[in-house]
Amino acid sequence: MSGELLQAHHKILADASGGKLTEEEVYNLETYGVKHPSEFDTGENELQPGQCICGEFNCKEEYAHWTSGW
Ligand SMILES: [Zn+2]
Repeated sequence: MSGELLQAHHKILADASGGKLTEEEVYNLETYGVKHPSEFDTGENELQPGQCICGEFNCKEEYAHWTSGW
């Protein structure tokens, strides 16, 4: 599939989403499985304040997860 056809393919899918997704988001969803690559990184590398190492917020077993090395 040429680059042009691939772009058209993403535009068609973006149009089909009724404006919910942009062409870029369609591309990212197909490529990474998420709308934005930053979503993909979250939980893997950067934890939010109050977020357990396992990815849960207010995790009941946060202490065990942190100390066990998850
Ligand atoms: Zn946890």
